[in-house]
Amino acid sequence: MTENAPRILIVEDEPKLASLLADYLRAAGYAPETLADGREVVPAVRARPPALILLDLMLPGKDGLDVCRELRSFSDVPVVMITARVEEIDRLLGLELGADDYICKPFSPREVVARVKAILRRAGRSGESTAAAGLVIDEAGYRATLDGQALELTPVEFRLLKTLAAGHGRVYTRDQLLDRLYDDHRVVTDRTVDSHVKNLRRKLEQVRPGQDLIRSIYGVGYKLEL
Ligand code: CA
Repeated sequence: MTENAPRILIVEDEPKLASLLADYLRAAGYAPETLADGREVVPAVRARPPALILLDLMLPGKDGLDVCRELRSFSDVPVVMITARVEEIDRLLGLELGADDYICKPFSPREVVARVKAILRRAGRSGESTAAAGLVIDEAGYRATLDGQALELTPVEFRLLKTLAAGHGRVYTRDQLLDRLYDDHRVVTDRTVDSHVKNLRRKLEQVRPGQDLIRSIYGVGYKLEL
């Protein structure tokens, strides 16, 4: 295994299953790490973000739902939720957790590896395509350009654009956006997000007249389409 092998965090409290997944991922060229307690996940990801997380739903300490929500408040790392019941998946989708994929037990480890590969490939490719599509975000300088033109953004609009761009076309709910825009989002409302989106949209449209780059997904939230 090389030092650059993408790190995959397996969060699974059944030791046999965790080590089976780890074996398959290692054989496929990844660097797997395992955790068994839900409470350990957020600190571990904050300390050293992995390339992807396989997250079991039923965990001791803190369940996968809460872990996923907490992760999404500060991280865009791809998350694959693993559930023991196929009926559970519809409910999970409805909760808008921001997970990238769902896998049901019992699964074939080969299938899991294939999904991991697909998600990492997609994440890598879309990372390039944001720049290729004309958007450049300078995080350190708090500046962004579209098609080479500087966007005059407020700090909140900058964070909004950065968040939407990091999702590579993923839909964000207003709550998820609020979490990333403000340290304490209890002081603001959904309407606040809408008005920042409106302003950001207008500024993007000045560069690309007639194009609406931020799509509203009715009843759900927003996504960036470059
Ligand atoms: Ca479990």
